[in-house]
Amino acid sequence: MPAQIIDGEALADQIKSQLAADSAQLAQAAKPPHLVAVQVGENPASKIYTNMQAKACESTGIEYELLNLPSEITQDELVGKIRELNTNDKVTGLILQMPVPPQIDARKVQVAIDPRKDVEGMHPENMGRLFYGETAVAPCTAMAAVTLLRHACEDLSGKETVIVGHSEIVGKPIAAILLQSPDASPTVTVTHIATKDLPSHTRRAEILIVAAGVSQARWLGYSRRKKAGESPPPPDLSPLISGDMLADGAIVIDVAINRIPKGFDENGEPLKNEKGKIARKTVGDVDFDAAKEKVAAITPVPGGVGPVTVAMLLSNTVACARGLA
Ligand code: NAD
Repeated sequence: MPAQIIDGEALADQIKSQLAADSAQLAQAAKPPHLVAVQVGENPASKIYTNMQAKACESTGIEYELLNLPSEITQDELVGKIRELNTNDKVTGLILQMPVPPQIDARKVQVAIDPRKDVEGMHPENMGRLFYGETAVAPCTAMAAVTLLRHACEDLSGKETVIVGHSEIVGKPIAAILLQSPDASPTVTVTHIATKDLPSHTRRAEILIVAAGVSQARWLGYSRRKKAGESPPPPDLSPLISGDMLADGAIVIDVAINRIPKGFDENGEPLKNEKGKIARKTVGDVDFDAAKEKVAAITPVPGGVGPVTVAMLLSNTVACARGLA
């Protein structure tokens, strides 16, 4: 039987309509959620992201403010600005846009954000709470992956669950969230780049959550070598998780976003579109076409974890405004 395709857009819309009701209630109580995004310097990628944030906030009645700071700002000045926003009662949530210029240590700035306004759930205090099972806010992508998983599978108790990737923002917090129930957690294995024999883990997974971004990393490595004047062979951009690495009937959450060329020509050059630019596709880490014939349910890329991640940012924002963080 073909797999259920878990629709992230539809789930995000459901979550957002609940959040719109919550923020209307907060506004009525004269405590509207007010998110400030701090952006240092100009960056086209970050502009796309802030536009998306502004739209998402508008659709849920969350006030959104973009604070543009000069690219030459010093670390101390930036931390000073964050402290000012921390004490501003109107501001209920704060987010530092990435990337930041080289003189800024993003981690130190994020730690300066008041944990009660930490809408990304990245502050060490909020990360620490994850381990105590007291989550009100948590890293958005990790929350999104678990929300989609629970949507596809209500009872996770004891299920063999394999996570591929152990980053601070995705793999590790997913494991922490999944292990919060004292008596009904799944059995979690976290794999990563140093894991020996990855297929032996993925093949026994009733639940597989993949967040590695391997094809993207290979493509970036190849592009860097080309820019440096080398002539590398086309990289292997095949998905990290092939169909034969999946268990029949598994539930698969593909977190990865790989923006890679559609293919290479006979000279080993990336295929171009009609505008003469590299023709790209957006794919996950799992071979979707093979997987959908084998597994019980899978998130698509795009349209799976991505939209729910945005909804989780809004959810964290509303939680902060309610004083739950
Ligand atoms: P990261 O680079 O910080 O971490 C990558 C992880 O993958 C590491 O734990 C590494 O050990 C592991 N890994 C790398 N190669 C591997 C291999 N061959 N076998 C097994 N494990 C391997 O990346 P990240 O920030 O955690 O992001 C991971 C992916 O998730 C990326 O594709 C990223 O684009 C995507 N992502 C998606 C969203 C979203 O909203 N959907 C948000 C954040 C990240």
